[in-house]
Amino acid sequence: MTSHPPAAPITQDVLTLPRKADEGGRRNLIGLTRPQLRAALIAAGTPERQAKMREGQIWQWLYHWGLRDFGAMTNLSKDYRALLAEHFKIDLPQIVSRQVSVDGTRKYLLRINGGHEVEAVYIPEDGRGTLCISSQVGCTLTCSFCHTGTQKLVRNLTAAEIVGQVMIARDDLDEWPEPGAPRNETRLISNIVLMGMGEPLYNFDNVRDAMKVVMDGEGLSLSRRRITLSTSGIVPEIARTAEEIGCLLAVSFHATTDAVRDRLVPVNRKWNIATLLDALRDYPRLSNSERITFEYVMLKDVNDSDEDARRLVQLIRGIPAKINLIPFNEWPGAPYERSDWARIEAFADIVHKAGYASPIRTPRGEDIMAACGQLKSATERARKSRAQIAAEAGA
Ligand code: SAH
Ligand code: SF4
Repeated sequence: MTSHPPAAPITQDVLTLPRKADEGGRRNLIGLTRPQLRAALIAAGTPERQAKMREGQIWQWLYHWGLRDFGAMTNLSKDYRALLAEHFKIDLPQIVSRQVSVDGTRKYLLRINGGHEVEAVYIPEDGRGTLCISSQVGCTLTCSFCHTGTQKLVRNLTAAEIVGQVMIARDDLDEWPEPGAPRNETRLISNIVLMGMGEPLYNFDNVRDAMKVVMDGEGLSLSRRRITLSTSGIVPEIARTAEEIGCLLAVSFHATTDAVRDRLVPVNRKWNIATLLDALRDYPRLSNSERITFEYVMLKDVNDSDEDARRLVQLIRGIPAKINLIPFNEWPGAPYERSDWARIEAFADIVHKAGYASPIRTPRGEDIMAACGQLKSATERARKSRAQIAAEAGA
């Protein structure tokens, strides 16, 4: 494990942009799927026979070029641009602050409508990088090791707010194409993981629509194999994820008995390990993808024994899988400790010898609290008490 110097220099700039007034009920075009965009254009007075062409033109401006101004859509007539401006807006979350870690990780705090805040994290790696995005403000689930789960306030993000996180990160990384410049095939945002705040499968429709926009080949153009959705195990939505999104799947597995998983991931009481594994068995075939990532947070003396490792490989037998071991990210008041490094390695070794890749997730951006499970809006003050967290953990 690479450990970063504790008191690392942090650059933090606060880019508070003035909030635009919500003028006259104009509809936001960001986050609409192609059929929704076309229907909206028709409803605003675009002749039906032109609608498909207009949809394509506007789509390119928004998602290929990253344009934010109808006035600059130069392949549309002046009158049509005015019509668009009258009926629509191009509205993205606002950056409240941006922190850059010594290791290059960037954490964005974004303000969305209603004054709520969500976080997105960009993790660079060898000229490419992964953007970790949120699907909800907070989370209705209460996994006992997760900081987001202690946040009381919850609201689903709209498709616009989910796509918006990708667009804002592209702005910040200056990654929109320049007209006339040769296509740059190495992308700074090469992968997306839905591993920020929230349970994506409890906001299924908006997540699906947002990913449709992100995957579209004439826009942001990230292939479905470069998108990983992480779920705590919302079984009824897993087949739909394969069929309607088709991205890669990661599952927050974290325990090898129902007794322990009930405590760590309480949604296990609804869909237990056997039920979850049944749904996962079908996923690779339904989504035509290779393997499922099993996420496993390493909690000292809770789920990290050799016996756990052996049970884990027994359980997932027959499922094409990779096991991602996550050293627990501690947060103030957390009722657990991170497993010792030697223990994590011994666990990884057993899994590896059973024939599964067992990478240990290197903590990134520790100096800016950018790690999974630590994302929690800074202004959210309504917190559960320590006693309540401990009680829910069954401690
Ligand atoms: N709600 C979804 C996605 C967001 S959480 C899910 O649970 O899968 C993303 C990942 O971070 C999950 O595997 C989650 O279990 C893990 N995680 C949460 N809190 C953590 C912590 N404190 N340390 C390490 N991993 C954590
Ligand atoms: Fe929600 Fe995932 Fe955290 Fe559980 S681990 S509380 S599902 S964000």
